[in-house]
Amino acid sequence: HHFELGKKENKTTLPVLKDISLQVEAGEIVSIVGKSGSGKSTLLNLISGFIKPTEGDIWIKDQKVTDFSEAKFADFRLNQMGFIFQSFQLIPSMTAYQNIELPLILKGESEIDRKQKTIAMLEKVGLEEFKDHYPSELSGGQQQRVSIGRALVLEPPLILADEPTGSLDSETEADLLTFIQKLNKELGVTFLIITHDEEVAHIGHRSITISDGQLIEGSDSL
Ligand code: ATP
Ligand code: MG
Repeated sequence: HHFELGKKENKTTLPVLKDISLQVEAGEIVSIVGKSGSGKSTLLNLISGFIKPTEGDIWIKDQKVTDFSEAKFADFRLNQMGFIFQSFQLIPSMTAYQNIELPLILKGESEIDRKQKTIAMLEKVGLEEFKDHYPSELSGGQQQRVSIGRALVLEPPLILADEPTGSLDSETEADLLTFIQKLNKELGVTFLIITHDEEVAHIGHRSITISDGQLIEGSDSL
């Protein structure tokens, strides 16, 4: 498989990921490491359908997602994937509560279910007291916890996380890692986690290093 970005006029086209092959089993936690600019976010963007590969296919749960239309991918993403971004991507005009509730609204859940699930998730990420705060009124770590709540509220089978602990203190980070392990063990949630943090990499079952456009498997080495 061969993926290229930057095909617009006046830009040089450089392959980011070349002839790569990656298989992730349901229930795995796989960490992805690699230098800045090596293609880690590109890999997650391909899996989540935000960009298309120039060549090659991606299959998720027996479905060839590279054939999906935009609309089909949007629906698939909502039901099958949760996202934790490096930069949170919260909606600034919505409170912590409203940001977490959003996927439930998009999915068309009833008001009673939405309320119950949103409150349960606010408790899980430790933000009950901050539920009416807007992102600008929350610390970086609190914003990250809102984004984690939003990613998990529909209990998707696959979570794609780009540096989820990048702006958390060590205590909050430890809580999040315990939470990830719990979701993985109890619900079988699969995680693909980009990280440069050894603590995070070590909770994974497998580690993949991206280097020179290639994926290098390393069971427990960084
Ligand atoms: P970081 O650790 O800094 O987040 P990364 O491993 O996530 O880095 P990517 O964002 O995947 O790196 O970028 C890989 C390469 O692709 C970089 O050279 C980057 O400049 C390039 N790139 C990323 N997105 C695009 C885009 N939309 N158009 C063109 N080039 C891009
Ligand atoms: Mg990145």
